[in-house]
Amino acid sequence: MESTAKPKVAVHKFSSCDGCQLAFLNLGAALMQVAELVDFTHFAEAGPLAPDAAVDIAFVEGSIATPDDLQRIARVREQSRFLVTIGACATAGGVQALRNLANAGEWIAGVYARPEHIHSLDRSTPIAEHVKVDLELWGCPVNGRQVLGALRALLFGVMPAQENDKVCMECKRRQTVCVMVTRGRACMGPVTRTGCGALCPSFGRDCYACYGPAENPNTAALARRFEGLGLVPEAVARRFLFINNGAPAFRDAGLKSGERHDG
Ligand code: SF4
Ligand code: SF4
Repeated sequence: MESTAKPKVAVHKFSSCDGCQLAFLNLGAALMQVAELVDFTHFAEAGPLAPDAAVDIAFVEGSIATPDDLQRIARVREQSRFLVTIGACATAGGVQALRNLANAGEWIAGVYARPEHIHSLDRSTPIAEHVKVDLELWGCPVNGRQVLGALRALLFGVMPAQENDKVCMECKRRQTVCVMVTRGRACMGPVTRTGCGALCPSFGRDCYACYGPAENPNTAALARRFEGLGLVPEAVARRFLFINNGAPAFRDAGLKSGERHDG
């Protein structure tokens, strides 16, 4: 008899803002079609709750930032055939990884009236630092088109191709006029991976690198260009130490510019 069992899919949340799960929900009618083809066993934001069920594909949002996160991610990995991280938090530690560059205890004491009730780790780290990850989808938030494409490919037993080239390339393909050349904006597009369709430059805004580092990012050259545009070293450092501050290429470039400021 032909098996009627649908593939099982889970969407897990770790330390995050839930924005990447919303990329699923914002798929609207397409999500309803997906729900006819797969069983969403665990997706707290949409309803189903079964965090420990075995699944074919687990999508993971958020970074590892609490002792509970550490234990849960090991269980999710054990119960999942494919594990896909979605968003900057899961792939690089998120904006909350800024704590890695400071004394986390001092920050907590400065923010909370009763810091003894806060149970967080000193560092916020990407999922891949703790368990094997089969595919990383970047972005803050990740975009629904990528999520759907990855899901479709994995259901057909194919590993999706990674989009590694730069936002600049996407601007050229869309014939979007360069905001750095024409408006003098400190755009991170030359070092940022595409996947968003060069969204910000298409509205005349500079890219702030929410998709993380592209392949072979020449961060030193871009930092010099930013200084040429009039940014002081501290401002250059802030361009790199933002949403994807935990990605090594951006962290190193940011710290280097910061040293020039301190020096
Ligand atoms: S990557 Fe951005 S949108 Fe996604 S959970 Fe983290 S902060 Fe939210
Ligand atoms: S242009 Fe840059 S900041 Fe804007 S959505 Fe794309 S990657 Fe993110």
